[in-house]
Amino acid sequence: MPRRFKAMRQSGRAVRRRLFRRNTHAWVRIADVFSRFPLLAGAIGTAVAFSMAVLSFAALWQGRAQALQNAHDASSNVVATLSADIARSIESSDLSLRSIVSGMQNPIVTGLSPELRRLVLFDGATAVSYIGGAFVMNAQGRIVDERDPSGHADLLFNDRDYFKVHVERPDVGLYISGPYRSRLRSGQRSLALSRRINAPDGSFAGVAVIAMNVSYFDSLLSRVNVGRSGSVFIVQRDGLMLARKPPLPRDGANNVSASPTFASMKEESSGSYISTSPLDGVRRLYTFVRVPGTNLIAAVAPAEDDVLAGWRERSTVIGGLTLTFGGGFVAISWLLAISLRSRAMALEKLQRLAGTDSLTGLSNRRALDRRLGEEWRRARRADYPISALFVDVDHFKFYNDTYGHAMGDDALVAVADCMQNAAQRPGDIVARYGGEEFVIVLPGTSAPAAVVFAERLRAKVESLAIPNSRSLKGVLTISIGCATVHPRQGDDALKLLNSADAALYRAKGAGRNRAVHENSMASGNA
Ligand code: GH3
Ligand code: MG
Ligand code: MG
Repeated sequence: MPRRFKAMRQSGRAVRRRLFRRNTHAWVRIADVFSRFPLLAGAIGTAVAFSMAVLSFAALWQGRAQALQNAHDASSNVVATLSADIARSIESSDLSLRSIVSGMQNPIVTGLSPELRRLVLFDGATAVSYIGGAFVMNAQGRIVDERDPSGHADLLFNDRDYFKVHVERPDVGLYISGPYRSRLRSGQRSLALSRRINAPDGSFAGVAVIAMNVSYFDSLLSRVNVGRSGSVFIVQRDGLMLARKPPLPRDGANNVSASPTFASMKEESSGSYISTSPLDGVRRLYTFVRVPGTNLIAAVAPAEDDVLAGWRERSTVIGGLTLTFGGGFVAISWLLAISLRSRAMALEKLQRLAGTDSLTGLSNRRALDRRLGEEWRRARRADYPISALFVDVDHFKFYNDTYGHAMGDDALVAVADCMQNAAQRPGDIVARYGGEEFVIVLPGTSAPAAVVFAERLRAKVESLAIPNSRSLKGVLTISIGCATVHPRQGDDALKLLNSADAALYRAKGAGRNRAVHENSMASGNA
C-alpha cells in the first residue's frame, strides 16, 4: 500500500478512537450523574413511561375519532344513495302527475271515451310495483278516472289532507301527503303524491293523485346494513316516521317531532350529530340528508356501541399492554434507583470509613491529604490565610510503658476529643497523623489566632489531668507547632505542614507542654 494511503488510514483510525473516547466520557459522565442522584433514574423512568402512556392514549383517542369519522363517511354515502333513489322515484311519479294534469286540462283528452282517456292519462311510469294507484278526482273529491278501475265512484276523498291543501293553495305544486291507510287497497299504508287540476278560469277543478305504497321505503331500507343496534329511517319534515329499520316497537310512537335533535334535522338540508334516540334510548351517530324537492328526510344512525366496538377491543388490549409494560418499566426504574441509592450509600460509608481513624474517629492521613488540598485551593481562591497545628503528646512512650497500652489508647481518645471539640468551624480539619501525633488545619485563621487556639488547646489537655509522672506537672501534656500561610499560586500545602512540624520540634526542644508558632519564640507553660 502506498505510504500516503497508509497514513490516511491511520489518521482515520485515530479520529475514530478519539471520538469513541469522547463518547465514552459522555456516557461515563451521565452514569456519574445517576450515581450521585440515584433517585433520578426512578424519576426519569417514571417520566418516560408516563410520556409513552400519554402518547399511546392520545393515539388511541385519535383512533376513536377516526372510527367515528369513518362511520360518518359511510353513513353519508348511504343517505346520499337513499336520497337519490327516493328522489328519482318521486320525480318519475311527478312527471306522470304533470302529464295527468295537462291531460285533464286539455279538452281533447277530456272529450275522449273513458277507456281512451285512461290510456292517455296513465302512462307506463305509474305501472311500477310501488305505485298503488293513479287517480283523477273532481272538485268534490270523487274519483273520475283511475289507472285500475275499481268502481269506487261513490267514495269521497275531500277529507284527505292533500285534497284540502290543493283547494286552499293553488300554487303548492307537487304535494306529498302524510302516510294514511288506503280505503281502496284494504288499508295498505300509502302516501299520496298529488297535483292540482285547474279549470280554464284557474278555479279548482280537482286533483291528480298517485298513491305510493309506504312498503317501497321499507324495501329500500331493508337493503341497508346498519349493524346490531343501528337504525335507518325516512321521516317527514313534520316528524312523522314513514319507514324505519328496525321497525318501531308500536304504533303511535312514530312521531319524533318532539325530539330535541329533530329540530336541526328539520332545519338543515344535511348534517350529523350524536344523540340518544328518544324512541329506544340507544346512543347513535345520526347522518341525515333532505331528499331534494320533497318533505322527506333520509337518515342513517349506526349505534355508537357498534361503531366503537372494534376500537374498544383494540383499546382494551393496547391500553392494558401499555399500562402493564409502563408499570413494569416504572417498577424496574425504581428498583434500579433504590439499588443505586443503597450502593451509593454503602460506597459513601466505605469512603467515610476509609478516611476515618478507627481508634479516635478523627480523619486519617488519607482524608487529611484530600481535605487539606481542598481547603488549600479554597483559601487560595478566596484569598484568606490558612493555619496548621502539629500536635504531639509528650512522653507518650513512657506513658504507654508505665500505664499500659490500653490506658494509652484511652488517653489518645481523650486528647482527640479535646481537639475535635476545639475545632468546630466548617472547614476545620482534625486528623490523626500517626501514633500520638495529630494535625489540625484551621482555614481562615491568622497566625495570632492560631497561637491563641493552640494555647487554649494545650491548657485544655493539661486540665484533663491524666496522670503522667514523667511530665514536670505530673499530668499528660501536648506540644504544638503552628504555621500560617497565605496560599499563593505555586505554593504547596505540604510546606505548611513541614513548617508546623519544624515549630513542633522547637516546642519539644524548649521543654514540651507549649505551643510554638514558626514565626515566634516558644511560649507556654513548661
Ligand atoms: P516526645 O515527648 O519526645 O514526643 O516523646 P514520646 O515518648 O511521646 O515520643 P515517641 O515518638 O518516642 O513515642 C511515641 C509512642 O507513642 C510510641 C508508642 O508506644 C506510642 N504509640 C503510638 N501509637 C500508639 C497507639 O495507637 N496506641 C498507644 N497506646 N500508643 C501508641
Ligand atoms: Mg511523636
Ligand atoms: Mg510524643
